[in-house]
Amino acid sequence: MSITRGDVVDLGRGLYAWLPPKRGWGLANCGLLVSPRGALWIDTPYDDVLAGQFLAESTKRLPDGVHVDRVIVTHANGDHFWGAGVLPDAEIIVTREAREHIHYDPTPKQQHALVTAGGPATPLGGYLSQHFGPFDWSQTEPVVPTTYFTGELELTLGEYPVRISSLPPAHTTGDLMVHLPAQDAVFTGDIIFSSTPGQPGDHPVHWAGPLSNVIAACERVLDTGAETVVPGHGPILDRAGVRDHIVYLEYVRERAHAFHTAGIPAVEAARRVIGEVRYPELGLPERLVVTIGSEYRQLDGTELPGVLQVMTEVAEVAQELERPDGPARPTER
Ligand SMILES: [Zn+2]
Repeated sequence: MSITRGDVVDLGRGLYAWLPPKRGWGLANCGLLVSPRGALWIDTPYDDVLAGQFLAESTKRLPDGVHVDRVIVTHANGDHFWGAGVLPDAEIIVTREAREHIHYDPTPKQQHALVTAGGPATPLGGYLSQHFGPFDWSQTEPVVPTTYFTGELELTLGEYPVRISSLPPAHTTGDLMVHLPAQDAVFTGDIIFSSTPGQPGDHPVHWAGPLSNVIAACERVLDTGAETVVPGHGPILDRAGVRDHIVYLEYVRERAHAFHTAGIPAVEAARRVIGEVRYPELGLPERLVVTIGSEYRQLDGTELPGVLQVMTEVAEVAQELERPDGPARPTER
């Protein structure tokens, strides 16, 4: 494991955010809420090594006799819940709709086999080993949620309310956000991939869409009135940061619709949006292949293709970006 330890940020009143040390695929933010009556996580790191680090950091902050016994999973991508195996007795809470995405993604062991069997011979193999090789799921069993809900779910943890809202399909089918009114904070999951001038992030990747739903979900985050917004990936934001992110999403949506109207195929549209270099500070521009592909499917009414097909296109565009004569070269990767 070449990933170094994450940082723990104290957000006050028993709330902490665990932030990975760098940007990149699979390095998600997580939350810890502690009270004298119990403790819960919002999401887990991607693999058991990172989850063990987060658990060790969490344990340092727990009162005697208190354990982390609940995990709220913002959505069913492995980088937000495959680490739950380090809490074998915890209640795992997801939306009912998240089940659909669990079945879409490979299991941890299947993904480990894919990543380690690849190698540089193909764009996909090289891409998977470059971006997913640092993780280890060789011994990770699938995580089985224990609690499903639709709509809204309100928990209490000691004196703290925890308001969980399911969202219409946006980043995935089955997204939720967690509002902690006592801490004036929201955990958004991958509705938001943040970036700030001091800490640039990555381009978002959205598997479901349409982007209008992602934008509406960002508006719901603002509607809570919360001042602290912890995105799925990237630095913690204030409300102005969320508004900036909506501007990004509206830009990608407008370009995708314009290229769709012009009859440009989705992958080519992604190449062209990358080539506009509107956000040169963001990493992983090839992820626009996924997001724009999702927007096209919403416009066309077609189904999400297999994840390997999508990732093959992502890897091919990433390889083009590495070439000096490539079709589109952001100034900084
Ligand atoms: Zn994620």
